Amino acid sequence: MTDLFDDSPPPCPACNHAQSTPLIFGVPSHEMLVAERLGDIALGGIADDPALEWVCGSRSCGHRF
Ligand SMILES: [Zn+2]
Repeated sequence: MTDLFDDSPPPCPACNHAQSTPLIFGVPSHEMLVAERLGDIALGGIADDPALEWVCGSRSCGHRF
């Protein structure tokens, strides 16, 4: 089959932590703010580097990649 629709997050390249959080850019909606508070997503703000897609799930790392 294909990996294109594999939605399991990649491991952090900095610390190899397995749980990464999707990084969302743009003006956040109310739902996005709630999701960020719950830890489901991370908000990247506006005009950051759009090549970044993930935030490491390890609080002590926080690496964006
Ligand atoms: Zn990490």
